[in-house]
Amino acid sequence: MSSTDYLSSLQELHFDNRYTRDLPADPISENYTRQVADICYSPVEPLKTPNPSLVSYSQDAADLLNLSSQTCEANEFLQTFSGNQLLDDMNPYATRYGGHQFGNWAGQLGDGRAINLGEISNQTGERWALQLKGSGPTPYSRRADGLAVLRSSVREYLCSEAMHYLGVPTTRALSLMTTGNKVVRDMFYDGNPQEELGAVVCRLAPSFTRFGHFQIHGSRGETDLLKQLIDFTIVNDFPHLGEPSAETYLAWYQEICDTTAEMIVQWMRVGFVHGVMNTDNMSILGLTIDYGPYGWLEDFDPTWTPNTTDAEGKRYCFGNQPEIAQWNLAQLGNALMPIIDNLEAVQNAYDSYQYRFQSRWREMMSEKLGFDNLNTETDPQLFDQLLSLLTEAETDMTIFFRNLAKVEVENTDFLTQDCEIPAELMDSYYQQEQLNDEYKGKLFFWLNAYQQRIKQDSSSAEQRSQKMDSVNPKYVLRNYLAQLAIDKAELGDNSMVNELLELLRNPYDEQPEQEQFAEKRPEWARVKAGCSMLSCSS
Ligand code: AMP
Ligand code: MG
Repeated sequence: MSSTDYLSSLQELHFDNRYTRDLPADPISENYTRQVADICYSPVEPLKTPNPSLVSYSQDAADLLNLSSQTCEANEFLQTFSGNQLLDDMNPYATRYGGHQFGNWAGQLGDGRAINLGEISNQTGERWALQLKGSGPTPYSRRADGLAVLRSSVREYLCSEAMHYLGVPTTRALSLMTTGNKVVRDMFYDGNPQEELGAVVCRLAPSFTRFGHFQIHGSRGETDLLKQLIDFTIVNDFPHLGEPSAETYLAWYQEICDTTAEMIVQWMRVGFVHGVMNTDNMSILGLTIDYGPYGWLEDFDPTWTPNTTDAEGKRYCFGNQPEIAQWNLAQLGNALMPIIDNLEAVQNAYDSYQYRFQSRWREMMSEKLGFDNLNTETDPQLFDQLLSLLTEAETDMTIFFRNLAKVEVENTDFLTQDCEIPAELMDSYYQQEQLNDEYKGKLFFWLNAYQQRIKQDSSSAEQRSQKMDSVNPKYVLRNYLAQLAIDKAELGDNSMVNELLELLRNPYDEQPEQEQFAEKRPEWARVKAGCSMLSCSS
């Protein structure tokens, strides 16, 4: 973007606040925790912050709003996106939604600590809703304080942007600020409350509407309001579907099934575990939303979940994500029934998710392995064998796929007696003693099958490795890296937050001077809080 496209100040932002203009507002203006009925949102202002300080902003996200670095570094930006000051056309509010948490209907949830500021229409006509997270209580705060701590805000901020650069659909993060508030949190719910630094993230999305926004109206029998919100969503967020009608409703639900499938395929590609896939954390646009106790797979373990609250049931572990997304889609379908009123058609769309997911997942795997095209007859077996192999010795998923592209597969005889594990792959193992003869036998068997498969393709080795490098990231936000950045930021040193943001802008590039960030998790991080275990406390 050339500097001439930048606005000269925040005052020039163009707001077009459709949510508050077109949907019914809570008539009660007092801000206290309560059950709210028959409306979509409650007007509420962000809490003033005593001593805001800018930790980081994302220039690429700022570009979406036509904001220059000069504007982002000015005091007005700090005051605005920490919640201290409203721009003239902002119209702050918290939305009402419900949701299923860990499989059970939880009733009203809502924006308990997210405050929407309004919707921007940028210079290219895109809509970007702005939302502060951690800026004080709302009618939906239940028993909590509406605040967020620096630790979880660094994680939300960095991961939103990292996911975007990886090509995973996600909400974006514009800025991260500390507030000067002290916030008390009992991080592991074990009777050890501590004071932590308060923080606010400003996040961006074309829309923050979640499955739970429809569920709350469905569950409360608010059929007219349910229809109003569906029509509003189709007109504003799915304009390509045309005027709302019986057919449009079905096409809309189908599209949600499709985009959700795509989002999950992308999570599985990069090894992302959301950690809290409740229906209130599912975006209607198929965006990754609400970065809480998420984690990145280090050793490839499909049963792994970073969320300590989920340690027993592992409902939201890596391998369950595809199925849970479908379960969530079923809950959305149920909620929409009073309006769609065509069980068979909804069922068909819901069923299509599984086929869609599976065919896209296979295509994605064939790209990770660098094939010219997916061979639907024989490739799935190769994928299954590989994934099983990855669980047999503790193997770093990111390093394994990235380095597989470097192995000279074509010219190696994997079936000779004295074959050794290629050095590139050795980097991916956490416990050398697991690499026994049995394991090696399976690995060589698989590498040999991979070699035979590659020979069917016309791409050269170089073309294959280039293709693989464009879908197998070198750099991801490893759990321990985020924690190191947090540890520094908590001491007032924001350098690593900014360093990681810069690193993760180009996750598929080699960046030779940054090798240390591509290394596997160090041993000390295996059991350290924040690195391998996270709670919902944030
Ligand atoms: P989550 O598990 O973060 O998706 O949050 C579930 C619900 O709890 C949502 O309605 C959140 O807005 C709300 N919530 C989470 N943390 C807080 C907090 N510190 N203050 C107020 N509400 C919160
Ligand atoms: Mg949430």
